[in-house]
Amino acid sequence: MTTLEARYRAVQQRLRQAALAAGRDPGQLRLLAVSKTFPPDAVRALAALGQTAFGENYVQEAQAKIAALEDLPALEWHFIGPIQSNKTGVIARCFDWVHSIEREAIAERLSRQRLDAGLAPLPVCIQVNVSGEASKHGCTPQDARALARAVGALPGLALRGVMAIPEPTPDTEVLRARFAQAARVLDAVRADARASGADAGRLDTLSMGMSADLEPAVAEGATIVRVGSALFGARPARA
Ligand SMILES: *Cc1c(COP(=O)(O)O)cnc(C)c1O
Repeated sequence: MTTLEARYRAVQQRLRQAALAAGRDPGQLRLLAVSKTFPPDAVRALAALGQTAFGENYVQEAQAKIAALEDLPALEWHFIGPIQSNKTGVIARCFDWVHSIEREAIAERLSRQRLDAGLAPLPVCIQVNVSGEASKHGCTPQDARALARAVGALPGLALRGVMAIPEPTPDTEVLRARFAQAARVLDAVRADARASGADAGRLDTLSMGMSADLEPAVAEGATIVRVGSALFGARPARA
């Protein structure tokens, strides 16, 4: 077994254990392999083991990687990094999912450019800051419902849920409280959708949990966990 395969099996085992410990069906958890900084060959090797969903943070790097892997049409690309407004066109055209919607203006651009490209609505999550001043990304939990309403009304986007990245801490109780807060935001967004007569059934996604904290995330209801280093190894420092 290769190192990559051993790591892949270990992550799948952690997810399964975490789901069972929480009384959840392991089949309802999706693993997003975060391939940022790793070369196309690393993606290709993991894809050969059956992984289909990959996450990227940097638009230029991702664009080259997606092009290099065009011969694997089953791959699904998720954008999970901060979004600059001059990059929305590439994201709207090249990605299958976006997890990191923080502002309405960015959502509007993505929606328009997605429609202009003639593509189906882009599944998105809004990113919510559950760590207060310790984090500079994501809308506040107070603003999340208004942002979700705005995003939900855009024809080129399909709102699917909430993404959160708590500040790292070894304190599992703190992490669980942060993840629980993200879950409550999703509950509120779903309630708003139902109250406005919309179908809340598609609001099914809680994107949370990474290599170091996937267990508490799964315990609090994560449906997509975004795992990088536990699969691909330590990332080189970014220049
Ligand atoms: C890099 C990154 C991950 C993966 O982090 P690991 O600790 O390597 O698992 C997950 N989500 C986001 C948004 C990231 O930027």
